[in-house]
Amino acid sequence: MFTRTHTCGELRASHIGQTVRLNGWVNSYRDHGNLIFIDLRDRYGVTQLVFDTDDAKNAGAADAGDKHAHTGMMGAADKLRNEDVISVEGTVRIRSGGENPKLDTGKVEVVVTSLVLLNKTENPPFLPDVIGTLPNEEVRLKYRYIDLRRPAMQKIVSTRSKALQSVRKYFVDANMFTEVETPVLYKSTPEGAREFLVPCRNVPGSFYALPQSPQLFKQILMVSGCDRYLQICRCFRDEDPRADRQAEFTQIDLEMSFVRREHIMTMMEGFVRHFWKDMLGYDVPPMQRMTYRNAMETYGIDRPDTRYGLHITDISEIAAKTDFKVFRDALAKGADRPRFNSKRGVVKAIRVPGGAEKLTRKITDGYSDLAKRFGAGGVATAKYIADPAGAKFDTGCAKFLEPIKAELVAALGLEPGDTLLFIADTYSVATKAIGELRQQVARDTNVVPKPGAEGGPWNFLWVIDFPMFEKNKDTGKWIAMHHPFTAPRDDQRDLFVSASVDDDDTIESIVSAGYDIVLNGSEIAGGSVRIHDRDVQSKVFQLLGLTPEQAKEKFSFLLEALSFGAPPHAGIAFGFDRLIMHICGTDNIRDVIAFPKTQVGADLMTRAPSAATPAQLKDLFIASTWTPEPSKA
Ligand code: ASP
Repeated sequence: MFTRTHTCGELRASHIGQTVRLNGWVNSYRDHGNLIFIDLRDRYGVTQLVFDTDDAKNAGAADAGDKHAHTGMMGAADKLRNEDVISVEGTVRIRSGGENPKLDTGKVEVVVTSLVLLNKTENPPFLPDVIGTLPNEEVRLKYRYIDLRRPAMQKIVSTRSKALQSVRKYFVDANMFTEVETPVLYKSTPEGAREFLVPCRNVPGSFYALPQSPQLFKQILMVSGCDRYLQICRCFRDEDPRADRQAEFTQIDLEMSFVRREHIMTMMEGFVRHFWKDMLGYDVPPMQRMTYRNAMETYGIDRPDTRYGLHITDISEIAAKTDFKVFRDALAKGADRPRFNSKRGVVKAIRVPGGAEKLTRKITDGYSDLAKRFGAGGVATAKYIADPAGAKFDTGCAKFLEPIKAELVAALGLEPGDTLLFIADTYSVATKAIGELRQQVARDTNVVPKPGAEGGPWNFLWVIDFPMFEKNKDTGKWIAMHHPFTAPRDDQRDLFVSASVDDDDTIESIVSAGYDIVLNGSEIAGGSVRIHDRDVQSKVFQLLGLTPEQAKEKFSFLLEALSFGAPPHAGIAFGFDRLIMHICGTDNIRDVIAFPKTQVGADLMTRAPSAATPAQLKDLFIASTWTPEPSKA
């Protein structure tokens, strides 16, 4: 009885004169006295409906335009409110009020002859056709089904679906990848994040872990001869809340056999090119490559946004020639990354073109707070200004900078009107802090182009040659920079073999065969050539401080698999949600996930997570040790 003949986005001038049936939600309602207009909405679009028969009016009970209770079709329409679900039948005609160029269906309207109310709505907490400010996100998440009715959200949902097809087109249809599903109830693997545990009722006291990624399964699939694997999979990481993360997220997970770094990078670059062309019609140019070290030195971060300059320069040598205490104290600090710098602390600088005007005192004062958040003492600021007697510095530290002025001008390309920002500390602290400062300065001086969806440049970049290991600041122990299954770069084999557990310098200097793809300052993919040799894998575990017993306990299945004919293999995983964020031009990860969680991991609609009943806990042999915090009241 309500089978539709067309969707609400379908009718055009060519349908004029046809009898049609449409279903959808009442998007808006306008009573013009002698006519009622309703915009009917479904996922495909909006169509204007007209209700023009009013029995009372036709019987001469009132003149057009008079206020009276409508009867007939207008009477039925009169009872409708926004978001009621209706089915209508009527005739398509040319739009009476003239074309609405904003709608695809804007040339026509449907004069309704029959109306069925399929479901009446309660007064909705907000309307999907909200223009301008949206209700706050909590309301949107609680009533996600209404939020998803918004055309902008519908568009993201269908873009995501199209993206899934595009991924499969490239990998499965064009490049012979096989889609394989790996378990969600899994065993702990160390990829850095905390895991979600699932108690196993049948084996009391034991737990599954939800996979942080299917890393070991995909490697073992290579041992099984799968050759090229794809999985668009859900991964779980129980990390501390962060605005741009979800505990549950989607990866495009890939692995290939019989390849080295170049092969897999070519295949993945091909995917990026295919995907951007397919989704946005954009031709991605050949991707630049940057070493990790270069990224850290020039941008202070391993996922640099290369859409703008504001490069970082190490001016330690020059800074050593002044008596400025801030510089002196920093240089006297020891080296915390011997491989990356000499045996002392560093002074790093950014030249901000035109900064003397653009960066107010208020802004630069805030920079010291930012630097402090990343462990540095603060930021020294110097304006370089024009002067009849020659350009000069004009801040508190000016007198210390004057003697090294010529060298700073030469090293940084300083011009009158620029501002210099300095951070002086140990290598790691100064690098991290000035990398963050650079991003803030870019925002403050408006040099970041709008995201690609609005026409700004897409800057794709490979970052390669990561260190294999880094020291965990808290525990002082070595950890794998990517994950412990990443191989040393081909030419590092001898260095790797020579490394012993207590030889920090050598361990730190081994370069891995890992690679990341960075887009406009966000990491969209990361992967590596894997270790396929059992002995190499055992040695990595050893350097990471695992005893042979611990390695066996945790990874015997992997070591065993590697010893039964593992081919050389390599892989990568793309963050699917991130890709969609870029394609849709949003910086809110929750916008690209149909049912996301809040920053603290709550689903506001279903109210997950929730307490388990005592009976459930008893079944699982679990007792909670949690006690509510005493109320502060
Ligand atoms: N498993 C890795 C990750 O989730 C990706 C990879 O190395 O393929 O980051």
